[in-house]
Amino acid sequence: MARHIGPVCKLCRREGEKLFLKGNKCLGPKCILEKRNSPPGQGKKQKFSDYGLRLREKQKLRRMYGLLDRQFRSYFRMAEKKKGITGEILLQLLERRLDNIVFRLGFATSRNEARQLVRHSHFQVNGRRVNIPSYLIKAGDTIRVKEKSKKVVRIKEIMELTKEREVPGWLELDRKSLAGTVAKIPSREEIAVPIQEKLIVELLSR
Ligand code: SF4
Repeated sequence: MARHIGPVCKLCRREGEKLFLKGNKCLGPKCILEKRNSPPGQGKKQKFSDYGLRLREKQKLRRMYGLLDRQFRSYFRMAEKKKGITGEILLQLLERRLDNIVFRLGFATSRNEARQLVRHSHFQVNGRRVNIPSYLIKAGDTIRVKEKSKKVVRIKEIMELTKEREVPGWLELDRKSLAGTVAKIPSREEIAVPIQEKLIVELLSR
Protein backbone atom coordinates (compact mmCIF):
# COMPACT_ATOMS: atom_id res chain seq x y z
CA MET A 1 0.00 0.00 0.00
CA ALA A 2 1.26 3.49 -0.90
CA ARG A 3 2.84 5.41 1.97
CA HIS A 4 4.75 8.59 2.52
CA ILE A 5 8.32 7.70 1.60
CA GLY A 6 9.88 11.18 1.64
CA PRO A 7 11.71 12.73 4.62
CA VAL A 8 9.35 12.40 7.57
CA CYS A 9 10.81 15.38 9.45
CA LYS A 10 9.28 17.57 6.74
CA LEU A 11 5.87 16.40 7.91
CA CYS A 12 6.59 17.70 11.42
CA ARG A 13 7.81 21.02 9.99
CA ARG A 14 4.63 21.22 7.92
CA GLU A 15 2.50 20.79 11.05
CA GLY A 16 4.79 22.93 13.21
CA GLU A 17 4.79 20.20 15.85
CA LYS A 18 6.66 17.05 16.76
CA LEU A 19 4.80 14.05 15.38
CA PHE A 20 7.39 11.60 16.78
CA LEU A 21 7.97 9.71 13.56
CA LYS A 22 11.65 8.88 14.04
CA GLY A 23 11.87 7.10 17.34
CA ASN A 24 14.46 8.24 19.85
CA LYS A 25 15.86 10.92 17.54
CA CYS A 26 12.65 12.85 18.19
CA LEU A 27 13.47 13.10 21.89
CA GLY A 28 16.98 14.51 21.50
CA PRO A 29 18.69 17.66 20.19
CA LYS A 30 19.00 16.13 16.70
CA CYS A 31 15.29 16.75 16.09
CA ILE A 32 15.14 19.43 13.41
CA LEU A 33 12.27 21.21 15.20
CA GLU A 34 14.68 22.02 18.01
CA LYS A 35 16.57 24.25 15.53
CA ARG A 36 14.07 25.23 12.87
CA ASN A 37 10.32 25.37 13.33
CA SER A 38 8.96 26.73 10.07
CA PRO A 39 7.03 25.02 7.27
CA PRO A 40 9.29 23.60 4.51
CA GLY A 41 10.02 26.18 1.82
CA GLN A 42 8.63 29.07 3.87
CA GLY A 43 10.26 31.53 6.20
CA LYS A 44 7.48 31.94 8.74
CA LYS A 45 4.36 30.23 10.05
CA GLN A 46 1.22 30.49 7.96
CA LYS A 47 -2.11 31.81 9.14
CA PHE A 48 -4.97 29.42 8.54
CA SER A 49 -8.66 29.87 7.80
CA ASP A 50 -11.17 27.93 9.94
CA TYR A 51 -11.21 25.21 7.30
CA GLY A 52 -7.41 25.21 7.13
CA LEU A 53 -7.13 24.79 10.91
CA ARG A 54 -9.44 21.78 10.85
CA LEU A 55 -7.63 20.28 7.89
CA ARG A 56 -4.23 20.67 9.59
CA GLU A 57 -5.56 18.99 12.74
CA LYS A 58 -6.75 16.04 10.69
CA GLN A 59 -3.46 15.80 8.80
CA LYS A 60 -1.52 15.93 12.05
CA LEU A 61 -3.44 13.04 13.58
CA ARG A 62 -3.36 11.01 10.37
CA ARG A 63 0.39 11.47 10.05
CA MET A 64 1.06 10.62 13.70
CA TYR A 65 -0.46 7.20 13.13
CA GLY A 66 1.04 6.88 9.62
CA LEU A 67 -2.26 6.45 7.79
CA LEU A 68 -3.39 7.25 4.29
CA ASP A 69 -6.31 9.63 3.96
CA ARG A 70 -8.60 6.82 2.83
CA GLN A 71 -7.72 4.66 5.83
CA PHE A 72 -8.17 7.60 8.19
CA ARG A 73 -11.61 8.38 6.81
CA SER A 74 -12.69 4.77 7.19
CA TYR A 75 -11.75 4.93 10.91
CA PHE A 76 -13.80 8.09 11.14
CA ARG A 77 -16.83 6.42 9.53
CA MET A 78 -16.45 3.50 11.94
CA ALA A 79 -16.31 5.93 14.88
CA GLU A 80 -19.39 7.78 13.65
CA LYS A 81 -21.42 4.58 13.61
CA LYS A 82 -20.62 3.72 17.22
CA LYS A 83 -22.48 5.10 20.22
CA GLY A 84 -20.57 7.75 22.16
CA ILE A 85 -18.37 10.75 21.44
CA THR A 86 -17.12 10.38 17.87
CA GLY A 87 -13.78 12.13 18.46
CA GLU A 88 -12.96 9.97 21.46
CA ILE A 89 -13.99 6.77 19.67
CA LEU A 90 -11.83 7.75 16.69
CA LEU A 91 -8.80 8.10 18.95
CA GLN A 92 -9.58 4.83 20.69
CA LEU A 93 -9.74 3.01 17.35
CA LEU A 94 -6.37 4.44 16.34
CA GLU A 95 -4.87 3.47 19.71
CA ARG A 96 -6.18 -0.07 19.36
CA ARG A 97 -4.19 -0.74 16.18
CA LEU A 98 -1.62 -3.46 16.79
CA ASP A 99 1.26 -1.31 15.47
CA ASN A 100 0.34 1.45 17.93
CA ILE A 101 0.15 -0.96 20.88
CA VAL A 102 3.56 -2.41 19.93
CA PHE A 103 4.92 1.15 19.90
CA ARG A 104 3.23 2.12 23.19
CA LEU A 105 4.62 -0.99 24.90
CA GLY A 106 8.13 0.01 23.83
CA PHE A 107 8.63 -2.93 21.46
CA ALA A 108 9.41 -0.35 18.75
CA THR A 109 10.89 3.15 18.83
CA SER A 110 8.25 4.60 16.48
CA ARG A 111 4.96 3.58 14.92
CA ASN A 112 6.71 3.20 11.56
CA GLU A 113 9.14 0.74 13.05
CA ALA A 114 6.29 -1.04 14.86
CA ARG A 115 4.46 -1.46 11.56
CA GLN A 116 7.52 -2.99 9.97
CA LEU A 117 8.13 -5.38 12.86
CA VAL A 118 4.49 -6.49 12.88
CA ARG A 119 4.63 -7.14 9.13
CA HIS A 120 7.74 -9.24 9.70
CA SER A 121 5.71 -11.44 12.08
CA HIS A 122 7.61 -10.77 15.28
CA PHE A 123 4.48 -10.69 17.49
CA GLN A 124 1.72 -12.92 18.75
CA VAL A 125 -1.68 -11.80 19.99
CA ASN A 126 -3.17 -14.20 22.53
CA GLY A 127 -0.66 -16.81 21.42
CA ARG A 128 -1.38 -16.53 17.69
CA ARG A 129 0.88 -14.92 15.11
CA VAL A 130 -0.58 -11.67 13.76
CA ASN A 131 1.19 -9.70 11.03
CA ILE A 132 -1.46 -7.12 10.25
CA PRO A 133 -0.53 -3.66 11.60
CA SER A 134 -4.17 -2.46 11.56
CA TYR A 135 -5.38 -5.47 13.62
CA LEU A 136 -7.66 -4.06 16.32
CA ILE A 137 -6.73 -5.10 19.83
CA LYS A 138 -9.40 -5.60 22.51
CA ALA A 139 -9.29 -5.16 26.28
CA GLY A 140 -7.69 -8.25 27.83
CA ASP A 141 -5.58 -9.15 24.77
CA THR A 142 -1.94 -10.08 25.31
CA ILE A 143 0.73 -9.10 22.82
CA ARG A 144 4.07 -10.82 23.05
CA VAL A 145 7.32 -10.90 21.14
CA LYS A 146 7.66 -14.34 19.55
CA GLU A 147 10.13 -16.64 21.27
CA LYS A 148 12.37 -16.78 18.19
CA SER A 149 12.25 -12.99 17.74
CA LYS A 150 13.56 -12.32 21.27
CA LYS A 151 17.01 -13.13 19.92
CA VAL A 152 16.79 -10.62 17.05
CA VAL A 153 19.48 -7.97 17.56
CA ARG A 154 17.21 -5.05 16.65
CA ILE A 155 14.56 -6.17 19.16
CA LYS A 156 17.24 -6.31 21.88
CA GLU A 157 18.44 -2.84 20.89
CA ILE A 158 14.90 -1.48 20.94
CA MET A 159 14.27 -2.82 24.45
CA GLU A 160 17.43 -1.05 25.57
CA LEU A 161 16.45 2.20 23.83
CA THR A 162 12.94 2.24 25.27
CA LYS A 163 13.71 1.03 28.80
CA GLU A 164 13.15 4.51 30.31
CA ARG A 165 10.00 5.17 28.34
CA GLU A 166 6.81 5.32 30.33
CA VAL A 167 4.15 2.79 29.36
CA PRO A 168 0.58 4.19 29.49
CA GLY A 169 -1.47 3.13 32.51
CA TRP A 170 -3.99 1.21 30.39
CA LEU A 171 -1.26 -1.20 29.29
CA GLU A 172 0.67 -3.66 31.45
CA LEU A 173 4.17 -4.56 30.38
CA ASP A 174 6.25 -7.49 31.53
CA ARG A 175 9.74 -6.60 30.33
CA LYS A 176 11.18 -9.98 31.31
CA SER A 177 8.91 -12.04 29.11
CA LEU A 178 8.50 -9.26 26.51
CA ALA A 179 4.74 -9.40 26.79
CA GLY A 180 2.09 -6.75 27.33
CA THR A 181 -1.59 -6.84 28.17
CA VAL A 182 -4.26 -4.29 27.33
CA ALA A 183 -5.88 -3.75 30.72
CA LYS A 184 -8.63 -1.55 29.27
CA ILE A 185 -9.52 0.63 26.32
CA PRO A 186 -8.16 4.07 27.20
CA SER A 187 -10.38 7.07 27.86
CA ARG A 188 -9.63 10.36 26.09
CA GLU A 189 -7.60 11.61 29.08
CA GLU A 190 -5.38 8.54 28.86
CA ILE A 191 -4.58 9.03 25.17
CA ALA A 192 -1.53 11.27 25.02
CA VAL A 193 -2.00 12.97 21.67
CA PRO A 194 -2.04 16.78 21.49
CA ILE A 195 -5.00 16.96 19.12
CA GLN A 196 -8.28 18.83 19.16
CA GLU A 197 -10.35 15.96 17.79
CA LYS A 198 -13.47 18.17 17.86
CA LEU A 199 -12.03 20.10 14.89
CA ILE A 200 -11.54 16.84 12.96
CA VAL A 201 -15.12 15.77 13.66
CA GLU A 202 -16.35 19.16 12.44
CA LEU A 203 -14.29 18.79 9.26
CA LEU A 204 -15.29 15.25 8.36
CA SER A 205 -18.94 15.38 9.43
CA ARG A 206 -19.75 17.91 6.71
FE1 SF4 B 1 9.58 15.00 13.79
FE2 SF4 B 1 11.07 13.24 15.01
FE3 SF4 B 1 11.98 14.44 12.81
FE4 SF4 B 1 11.76 15.75 15.12
S1 SF4 B 1 13.13 14.03 14.67
S2 SF4 B 1 11.12 16.50 13.13
S3 SF4 B 1 9.87 14.87 15.98
S4 SF4 B 1 10.22 13.04 12.96
